[in-house]
Amino acid sequence: MNLDLPGWFEGKVGQLSALTAEQVPRLVDHILNCAREAGASDIHLRATETGTEMRWRIDGVIQKVAAFPPEIANNIVARLKVMANLLTYRVDIPQEGRVRSSVAGKETRISVFPTQFGEKVVIRLFASSGHFDTISQLGLPEDVIERFKYYLGQTSGVILLTGPAGSGKTTTVYAALREIINNSRGERSLVSLEDPVEVIVPEVDQTSVNPKSGMDMMTGLRSLVRQDPDVIMVGEIRDHETAETVFQASLIGNLILTTFHAGSCTRALNRLSDMGIEPYLLRSGLLAVFSQRLMRTLCDCKTISNDSQHLQNDRFERVAIPNGCPKCRGTGHDGRRVISEVLDPDLPAIAQSILSRQDVKTLNELVKQAGVVSLRSRAEKLVEELEVSPMEMVRVLGAV
Ligand SMILES: [Zn+2]
Repeated sequence: MNLDLPGWFEGKVGQLSALTAEQVPRLVDHILNCAREAGASDIHLRATETGTEMRWRIDGVIQKVAAFPPEIANNIVARLKVMANLLTYRVDIPQEGRVRSSVAGKETRISVFPTQFGEKVVIRLFASSGHFDTISQLGLPEDVIERFKYYLGQTSGVILLTGPAGSGKTTTVYAALREIINNSRGERSLVSLEDPVEVIVPEVDQTSVNPKSGMDMMTGLRSLVRQDPDVIMVGEIRDHETAETVFQASLIGNLILTTFHAGSCTRALNRLSDMGIEPYLLRSGLLAVFSQRLMRTLCDCKTISNDSQHLQNDRFERVAIPNGCPKCRGTGHDGRRVISEVLDPDLPAIAQSILSRQDVKTLNELVKQAGVVSLRSRAEKLVEELEVSPMEMVRVLGAV
């Protein structure tokens, strides 16, 4: 990380400690730009007893980058609240807002929350989903790419991309849209309903939902299906109404790509069932479920070890562990890889268990018997290939 704020400030403006109100906007812009350049997905400003700590989330992990004395921090927070149209005089309530950028499709979300020593601010930066082109460029294993392409070529059904927050679902969904565009040569009508539009894809008619004006996911979706689409991308299924509308739309000849917050493919099935989606609707509408995670890959400075403490109860013979060098800014990691599991609901045992609303445990057993390659097996393979450390596997998937 290289955010020398005092150095930058002295070079451009003067002493950071003598910051005036007029200089605050430049300081805030600089912080936002630096965070984007460093590839951060979120900026956290955490008020503590002695001042405010700034931390960035990069490759899924929080790192401390700077600290500010209270008076400077207050100015920064106030500026961010102005940018997001929040009430600056209220410091005792949670608030959320968006900063619209002049660059199309780039949005920043700001949320503030009162804590013991002042307001905590979290800034979510949307900018990192644009650099992948197609499914083949996500770094997925060959067999997953093949399955993905097969499903994207279908004319109806729901393709569900699941994973926790920060697992790269959005990147995958945009890559899938581009894949469809590249293969359909303009012969399919593509529309999207998102909250908000994060990356512009020129060939898709994209819409951001706006619940305040009455355009929520469900209302938008019900109108969109009358616009003769072939492919609909729905940013995320969050409630029963959206889920049901999505599945009904899939039955009338729409291919629907959407994301859903769930820890695994089987948990996604279970949650949809819990949301009240009828088993027959789930069974006939669902085309495929993908579950994914992002894992940090090791930098070349890694060390090979056969020390028993790293071998995960002798699951591995030898492993690679992170070190740290200037190239990886001391983190020991360099980039991330997607791992993915794919569930085909047409597998007879799975289809039957959807209809009879089986619990997650039974589903997991059936999925295993059907030979579905799990996220954990994918992760273990990367550990065996010395690409990923065993600690990273535990961080992302938990201990066995
Ligand atoms: Zn390194």
